[in-house]
Order: sequence, then C-alpha cells, then structure tokens
Amino acid sequence: MRKLFFANWKMYLGDDEAEALARSYAEGALSASVDVAVAPGFTALERVARVLAASKVALGAQDAFWKDEGAYTGEVAPKQLAALGVKHVIVGHSERRAMGETDEIVARKAAAVAADGMTPVVCVGELKEEREAGRQEEIVRAQLAAMMAALPSEAPFIVAYEPRWAIGTGTPCSPDDVAKMHACIRGIAGPDAAILYGGSVDPENFRPYLDLPDVGGLLVGGASARPDAVRAFFEAFAS
Ligand code: PEP
Repeated sequence: MRKLFFANWKMYLGDDEAEALARSYAEGALSASVDVAVAPGFTALERVARVLAASKVALGAQDAFWKDEGAYTGEVAPKQLAALGVKHVIVGHSERRAMGETDEIVARKAAAVAADGMTPVVCVGELKEEREAGRQEEIVRAQLAAMMAALPSEAPFIVAYEPRWAIGTGTPCSPDDVAKMHACIRGIAGPDAAILYGGSVDPENFRPYLDLPDVGGLLVGGASARPDAVRAFFEAFAS
C-alpha cells in the first residue's frame, strides 16, 4: 500500500506563499511514490483548493469545530471545510492540546469531521515527562480510546503518533521507539488503520521512518512549509 506524506503548514505561510507552494506540491506529486495531502491555514484553503483541484494532492485542514453551525464565534465548521473540498482534518494536534484541548474535545471533533464525510487525522502523543516516566503507552492508549469510542465503527480515520516533545524541536523520536509505539497503536486501532509518524521529520532524516513496515506515512510540519525542503522531499519521492 502507498504511504502518505501529510503536510501541516501550521501558521507559517501567507496566502500568496501557500498558493505558490501548493503548485510545487501539485507538480511533485505527479511522479511521487507516496500519496500527498496538504493542510494550509484556513484563509488560504480556497486558493489552495483551486490549485490542487486537478492534481493528485488531497486538501486537508488543520482543525475543525465539533458543531456544524451555531453561535460559535471564531470557529470553523466541518461542513464549511467539506464544502471547500477538504478530505482530511487534523484534530488534537499537540499545539492545540497545549492550549487546553482535552481528549473529550478531540474525540468530539473527530466524530464531527467523520460525520461530514471527511477523514480525521487524530494526533496522539505523550509529553517529555510522561515518556521519562515510562507512561507513553498509557497516555496514547487513553487518547486513542477516547477518540475511538466517539467514532462510528465504520468511520475511516488516520492516527498520527506525534510525541509532543518531538514537534518542532529538531529532536525526532528514534525509529525504534516509533516502531514500538506504532505496534501499541495498531493493537488498538486495528490491522487496517493508517498510522503516521510526525515530529521533526525533514528531508535528511525521513527515510528510516517511512521504511518502517508499520508506519503508514509521515505528518510533517515545519519542513513541509519550506520550499527548499519540499523540493528535496519530492526529489527523494520521485519514482
Ligand atoms: C506537526 O506540526 O504535526 C509536526 C510534526 O511538526 P514538525 O514537523 O515541525 O515537528
């Protein structure tokens, strides 16, 4: 099965830059040995959607609210994202959990995204002190259990193992530890679940992660928004 390269552009790009980078993705994906999806910021979604419309790159979003309409100032409804052609929505990213998102909120968001026909990309992962205390599997199991209890059994989902101490720090989790955690996640999420790794992946270090049999692909933040790194990724992915 083809693996997935999922780009999370976070809040790094202006809309003009996002549109230009989307063109590089569309071109690179033509000869890539991986499937590709990008999650731009909300304001760039429509412009990026137009660029990607006839391409092999799927459109993603970085978050969504758990309701489809109502008095929720500042929130973005799953229904609004689906109407723009979004296929995948990240929920429970560590940068949102750090601002107070609980497992319950993440589970509600995942269910709302699935209800609108999109695939939630559910981020799970432990804090540094939790890993140091040997609690990483316990933490991730609890995060996953909350999400899976909220999702209908037939709903598709993607899990992204993103240890919180590895995000944006330049210190990725070792491939051995990723393999151990992916085996743990697979035991809960099931044999067919797509499980990504994310955390300080770049064009120089990605290969051992992508080659792990249990890793269904990569969720890449910072490097996925840098044109030079994107060129290097697609050179490496060229089949
Ligand atoms: C992310 O934002 O999901 C991520 C993995 O970030 P980075 O690649 O910058 O660590």
